[in-house]
Amino acid sequence: MKKYLRIALEVLLVLLLAASIAFAYMNFSGKKHLASDMEEVSAELDETKDTLDKTKEQLDDAQAKLEEVEASAKQFEIVKQAFSNGVVLQDMEAVYKAQKSLSAERLVGLGTVRQLTKGFEDSSAVEAFQKSLEIAELGARMQAVCSAQSALLSAGKKVTLMAECLVKPNEKKAQDDDEKSKESAAKKVHWTYEGEEGPEHWGENYPTCANGKKQSPLNITGEMGKTRDTISPGYKETPLKIINNGHTIQVNVEAGTSVLTVNKEPYDLLQFHFHRPGEEQFNGKSPAMVVHFVHKSKAGKLVVLGVPLNEGKENPLIKTLWANLPAKEGEESAPEKMIINPATLLPSDLSFYTYEGSLTTPPCTEGVNFYILKTSSDISKGQLNKFPFKVNARPVQELNGRKILSNN
Ligand SMILES: [Zn+2]
Repeated sequence: MKKYLRIALEVLLVLLLAASIAFAYMNFSGKKHLASDMEEVSAELDETKDTLDKTKEQLDDAQAKLEEVEASAKQFEIVKQAFSNGVVLQDMEAVYKAQKSLSAERLVGLGTVRQLTKGFEDSSAVEAFQKSLEIAELGARMQAVCSAQSALLSAGKKVTLMAECLVKPNEKKAQDDDEKSKESAAKKVHWTYEGEEGPEHWGENYPTCANGKKQSPLNITGEMGKTRDTISPGYKETPLKIINNGHTIQVNVEAGTSVLTVNKEPYDLLQFHFHRPGEEQFNGKSPAMVVHFVHKSKAGKLVVLGVPLNEGKENPLIKTLWANLPAKEGEESAPEKMIINPATLLPSDLSFYTYEGSLTTPPCTEGVNFYILKTSSDISKGQLNKFPFKVNARPVQELNGRKILSNN
């Protein structure tokens, strides 16, 4: 009997021992879970705190920006009130009326004063901005282009703001704060054909000039495919408006007077301008000069017709143009009753090469179709020497797999 009791006690003891071990283990692992749960919760708390901090920062930023906008709005109201009696506009229109033509910058100024005085309901403000854009566009008057585009945009007109015109508010603030940045901002719109602001550096401020894969001009050479494209110039007489825009001599053509029909689609002639030497090369050789006729379709597509100029007889139209060169850079000269016909610059043979390219000046925008005539027109040696730009040609660009086609 005693023996059984002892066995029973021993069994009980073992069971108790096992139970206490199990209990101790369960207790330990429970705490462990609890500890890891606690860690998770605290990590989540930290994250929430971070998010809160960030949100607070964003709120502070937004508040600061709102204050800036409010300040600008107040300033604008004061300026608007000052102009609302119309006296400034009257004076300005009287002064400008006496001048034969206005630069893109002055037209933007006139548009702004009209808009401040009469609001955008008055079509004359919009008209001034549109006129300014016509003159400034493709003439590298970037500041005027940006002002006019922004103004038309706020007038509810369908205008695509050029990427170059988008300056972030904080960048602008930094520029205002820092005289040095101001200098570089002024430099930003400036470019040349030689030196530190020459073609190799255009890409620093106008990225497409460096990164574009369909850039102009090209060296026209090698085996050529055929194109079925047709071009038919319908250039008419237009009052002479000629400008030295600092990069070339440009003749602005009255809208709607002259047309280039490309595959039955009409392209309005906007302007024509000159490069020395000719930008497109033929088997590695540049013509003495080239005249680029710039056209735009209703849909906004651009077409450039290039006519090489080589030394030969005196050119009657160029004689008229050179005799009326504007004295100062930036201003359009429009001698009274002077009528020209751009068609007189075209040779009789209109055989051409064609390729997809870009503006040959900053911002080097792509999507421009080029038609380069194979036959050149004449320009005399004296006329060549009278052109005010020694060199204003962009070097030839990489083909990057593009095909140059010929129409015959
Ligand atoms: Zn050109």
